[in-house]
Amino acid sequence: MRLGIDIGGTNTVWGLVNEQGQILDKGGIKTKAFENFPDYLNALSNSLKPTLEKHEGLKGIGVGAPNANAHTGCIEFAPNLVWGKDIVPLAESCEKEFGLKTFITNDANAAAIGEMRFGAAKGINDFIMVTLGTGVGSGFVVNGQLVYGHDGLAGELGHIIAVRDGRDCGCGRKGCLETYTSATGIVRTAEELLKQNKESLLIGQEPLNGFKIFEAALNDDPLALEIFDFTGKILGQSLADAVAITSPKMIVLFGGLAKSGKFIFDPIQKYFEQNLLKIYQGKVQIVPSQLPENDVAILGAAALVI
Ligand SMILES: [Zn+2]
Repeated sequence: MRLGIDIGGTNTVWGLVNEQGQILDKGGIKTKAFENFPDYLNALSNSLKPTLEKHEGLKGIGVGAPNANAHTGCIEFAPNLVWGKDIVPLAESCEKEFGLKTFITNDANAAAIGEMRFGAAKGINDFIMVTLGTGVGSGFVVNGQLVYGHDGLAGELGHIIAVRDGRDCGCGRKGCLETYTSATGIVRTAEELLKQNKESLLIGQEPLNGFKIFEAALNDDPLALEIFDFTGKILGQSLADAVAITSPKMIVLFGGLAKSGKFIFDPIQKYFEQNLLKIYQGKVQIVPSQLPENDVAILGAAALVI
């Protein structure tokens, strides 16, 4: 049995996971409710105490968190964590607090490990996990192992340049994939297209979000379909480029956008194949995540524990 903890900007959820990948006990706290890390850790400890007392012989703790560095065990300058904007020694603090060996990695890597142990990528040694949420993250698995790079920070697919001199990105650069294919990216596309005075069911529905665009697409709204086509084009092209680096057998898409089914998968598939180098064509599957959205990161974090 292992404990998996998923730290997000808004919520922290934890789960007790057995060898089969079943979550036996679950809980959480509000990440945002705490100004500083000691208060946060204290609340997490109180939330976990009854469970830790009930289950002895835990093998360890795995944590998925934004900007978590597997090499240093620290969260490093996480813009979305109120108490994580500096360097937070997360693994060391958890080991002291709970007396259990603790492993950490960033949330997208944790999702990749979850998918490899229990989901769509089970038994697949070479794949790319792409998380499409508020931001765009990724985990690259090569030869059965997660790629960390020399400093533990490999796999930032969200910040490859998808469009030269394109949209301003939060990282300070221009045209990053994230500015087109994240939850906010797709809304930016919608706003740009609406400015061209096109007819659409989306007019007057501000503030827009991915789900509203999905609903409009279900009603055959041409603008919504155009938004998905454009988004799928950018993502398909970028994924085709990524394939040339690690030659994956599969690409797993996870997150809100991936739930839009054929509206997003059809254009991704089309532009992906069009842009692939011939030697890779017809060989790489693009599939949605097979794990329940709320559990992926917990399962992946738990699987970090060796
Ligand atoms: Zn960027």
